[in-house]
Amino acid sequence: MKILVINAGSSSLKYQLYDMTNESVLAKGLVERIGMDSSILTHKPTGKEEVTEVSEILEHNTAIRKVIDMLTHEEHGVLKSVSEIDAVGHRVVHGGESFTDSTLITGEVKSEIRRLFDLAPLHNPPAIMGITAAEKNMPNVPHVAAFDTAFHQSMGEKAYLYPIPKVLYKKHHVRRYGAHGTSHFYVSHIAAEYLNKPLEELKIITCHIGNGASLTAVQGGKSVDTSMGLTPLEGLMMGTRSGDIDPAIVTFVMNKEELSFSEVNSMLNKHSGLLAISGNSSDMRDIENGVHEGQPNETLAFEMYEYRLRKYIGAYAAAMDGVDVIVFTAGVGENSSFVREQVCKNLTYLGVEIDPELNSIRSGDPRRISTPNSKVEVLVIPTNEELVIARDTLRIAQENKK
Ligand code: ADP
Repeated sequence: MKILVINAGSSSLKYQLYDMTNESVLAKGLVERIGMDSSILTHKPTGKEEVTEVSEILEHNTAIRKVIDMLTHEEHGVLKSVSEIDAVGHRVVHGGESFTDSTLITGEVKSEIRRLFDLAPLHNPPAIMGITAAEKNMPNVPHVAAFDTAFHQSMGEKAYLYPIPKVLYKKHHVRRYGAHGTSHFYVSHIAAEYLNKPLEELKIITCHIGNGASLTAVQGGKSVDTSMGLTPLEGLMMGTRSGDIDPAIVTFVMNKEELSFSEVNSMLNKHSGLLAISGNSSDMRDIENGVHEGQPNETLAFEMYEYRLRKYIGAYAAAMDGVDVIVFTAGVGENSSFVREQVCKNLTYLGVEIDPELNSIRSGDPRRISTPNSKVEVLVIPTNEELVIARDTLRIAQENKK
């Protein structure tokens, strides 16, 4: 079974082709600047040289055609024909309350994803463009949607409702949905596997910290709370997003600075977080360099980031009445030994103790960084959202064959 995983954004499209007999990646790549004058396709066939092609790609249909041309290319390709692709999996950011699992894409499913445009105006429309284009170019295979929100649908009312007039939930579906669900699901499962313990018995805090960042309390294998909310703005301080602030700041600043809705939205999503406090960069590598050079703005940005992250870990330990495992994943979580060290240094009240040597090891494999004495297992687990989508696509394609 060969499965193509597609992650379509408004001007980009990422893809990975899997051979599911051994879950190996045959090729992966990225189309950037869709709709702009010179679009770039970067294609990396496993075991061969990476190739880059610049051309005019005005919409997602052409992007998919170019990807298929590349996958079947005489020299750079890994397939003889597109008919070797057995199913296609699509990442969809928002599944609202309708989708608690990945699902076979039907006309009804597409209508539902469209109905959710309001809740994810930047993400769901390009997902539909990707799905429509892929269906057009690969019409005879099952297409499956995997939702970033699905894993969090297990949260109870007390975690997902906001203490605001209930009519807003009834009328406009205002509630916590969370994000990065595929990643939190994956790393919590790998954690249990790595520790050789039943997932059902574990209290895990998964820290997915990249450009966007969210924490999830995973109890008995289920998401019981997560830090992102109605949108991915809530929760931790991020690269360019504020995370939690007093909601009254929004109206206060709009009034004082005469800002429009879209201006204040852009301020909180694109001009806040590490970028705003350092005044320099949203990238944790630059922030860390600044800290080591003694730069005051970078140091403050780092301290705020670490402090807020640590407070959320405390909150989720309280939410579950304890924690057995803390998992770090995504760009910062997997790569920044400094962030992990600083956070864990201040979790002594939970009995967390990490081994500096284990923490400094760089590896692409799941690994433990806590000492044998630590009351909480601390793990670093590289996330793999594409693999989860490929596995779900395989399962659903097979179920629908029967
Ligand atoms: P996204 O949320 O866009 O998927 P990633 O999970 O790939 O992002 O994370 C990207 C971020 O990871 C970068 O912006 C950078 O801040 C951080 N990062 C990557 N490598 C390192 C590193 N070696 N040390 C510290 N931070 C890193």
